Amino acid sequence: MTDTLLENHIAKLRLRLRQSAQKYDRAESDILLLAVSKTQPAAAIRAAYACGLSHFGESYVQEASAKIEALADLPLTWHFIGPLQSNKTRAVAEQFHWVHSVEREKTARRLSEQRPQELAPLQVCMQVNISGEHSKSGVAPDAASDLAAAVASLPRLTLRGLMAIPAATDDVAAQREAFAGLRREFESLRRHHPQMDTLSMGMSRDLEAAIAEGSTLVRIGTAIFGPRRG
Ligand SMILES: *Cc1c(COP(=O)(O)O)cnc(C)c1O
Repeated sequence: MTDTLLENHIAKLRLRLRQSAQKYDRAESDILLLAVSKTQPAAAIRAAYACGLSHFGESYVQEASAKIEALADLPLTWHFIGPLQSNKTRAVAEQFHWVHSVEREKTARRLSEQRPQELAPLQVCMQVNISGEHSKSGVAPDAASDLAAAVASLPRLTLRGLMAIPAATDDVAAQREAFAGLRREFESLRRHHPQMDTLSMGMSRDLEAAIAEGSTLVRIGTAIFGPRRG
């Protein structure tokens, strides 16, 4: 993709974000734009940084490590958003600032143990399975409270919020219903964990519904970079 096309995509996306913030009475500055750069080369991330983006999301540890190294000269914030296998926790603990996909206490414990002392605590969102059988990923809503207590108690992690990937649909009412479910879970957990400030929800096709339901962080891939490679 050319840099001009990338610039156009980002301008269009920013307009979508601004318009939905206005429509749903949200402050645009309360919604962080996370650019999902999985499968995209380091050069595309560099070009997106030149367009003003600085938070990037990756789903595959090995692929991400190479890019994080290649882009170490830029002040970027890296978010791990993919499935988290227990043999990959060390690389995540050492290289990322955020993880959105914590769904088990065991992984949380490993991340805390492996987080280098010289780095700030790892910022954690728990992934919640709000779509039931449509998805295997995420902690079940009725187990979220125990997991939140565990994450909050770990010294090298900071519990920041919740993330979900609802079943894909173009039905806006269904999108909003799923996101509203995550928001209710968030509000309920926040009574015990008032430091939670992040609702990671909304992707390219459903960011309007997510913003309507209170998203504070949208994870956007294809609307920025175009179709994924490979
Ligand atoms: C790939 C991915 C995204 C981005 O999806 P788009 O539809 O390309 O915007 C967001 N969140 C997660 C967890 C992803 O894996």
